[in-house]
Amino acid sequence: MSDSDFREGLLSINLKAIADNYLDLVGRLGTGTRCGAVVKADAYGLGMAHIVPALYAQGCRDFFVATQAEGQRLRSALGEDVNIVILTGVRPGAELECARAGLIPTLFTLEQLRRWVEIREQLQLEAPCALKVDSGMTRLGLSPEEFELLLKDRPLLEAADVQILLSHLACADEPLHPQNQIQLRQFREASDRLRELCPDILLSLANSSGIFLGEDYHFDIVRPGSALYGLNPVPGSENPMRPTVTLGLPIVQKRYVSQPRAVGYGATQEIPGNSWLAVARGGYADGIMRSQGGRGRGWAHGRPLPIIGRISMDSTTFDISGLNKEERDSINSIEILNEQLTVDEVAGYAGTIGYEVLTSLGHRYDRRYIKG
Ligand SMILES: *Cc1c(COP(=O)(O)O)cnc(C)c1O
Repeated sequence: MSDSDFREGLLSINLKAIADNYLDLVGRLGTGTRCGAVVKADAYGLGMAHIVPALYAQGCRDFFVATQAEGQRLRSALGEDVNIVILTGVRPGAELECARAGLIPTLFTLEQLRRWVEIREQLQLEAPCALKVDSGMTRLGLSPEEFELLLKDRPLLEAADVQILLSHLACADEPLHPQNQIQLRQFREASDRLRELCPDILLSLANSSGIFLGEDYHFDIVRPGSALYGLNPVPGSENPMRPTVTLGLPIVQKRYVSQPRAVGYGATQEIPGNSWLAVARGGYADGIMRSQGGRGRGWAHGRPLPIIGRISMDSTTFDISGLNKEERDSINSIEILNEQLTVDEVAGYAGTIGYEVLTSLGHRYDRRYIKG
């Protein structure tokens, strides 16, 4: 495609690369482990409606979302042969709707379990739930004390129809962090005890990075999100995943600057005389993090081009003096994400993580989904 094909920023999302990443992860699991997919926040900003069918085609049948609204949107697009798990519980009063839609809420308080049982019994619904225990992250999940109480309450446990036991790792992206082992031990202990009472319950602990901690962490279902979308699950080592996004910004003005000048709001950065600048459409309102100003870069003709000065709401200025005249004349756009300039690298310039870069991608881009 030529650069002049688009006048808005163009966000290309490679569904083939996402499918390949899924298969790569499947290949790291034993045959007893199912590979789910976390597609919360519109598949990390990349478009759940396109990505879910691509993963389904590769055999994925366990999808994880954050909210009931996301689950309902997904449910209406998929058949009964998939599990849709809502990771952040169920809103009080919305249990019925949740159960009727066949969504599996992750419950993490005894109160939620009791309400779930009430609804099931009132309606005689076959409605499984997932249960989350806190194995050390101290976010969502039953505390060890609450878990003890649950184990003593056999009727509640039996009536709740817990299908999956979940927990989440806090430090999976730091393989040597002692917290991983501690959480693994906690989760094992909890799951062993629960399985004595509910032998068929499925166990799920690992996110993307957790898969790379080794087989001990895999259990029955893994829950990768970020690695599917190309983020590096093993920071500090070479990224085993394929990059999945390219983002090109159209240039709206190229200008020659003869004398040293300060560029952009606040006049924070000066460029020397005899420079060339390109102002591209796309700014912090489009998820180009303002914290990248003066630090980040774009990419054209196989070369990095520094971002100069502050990023504006709708535009970003690049120093294109490094290009020769012919290259300068020919470019109509500058890429700010591509195979060389990865989401993780951009996150580094912005002082954040790839997850935030992806989920911040704006809504003004033309989006293109690449299948081949
Ligand atoms: C978001 C999330 C995941 C996926 O994590 P990644 O690091 O993106 O693989 C898995 N489990 C839970 C509970 C989550 O909230």
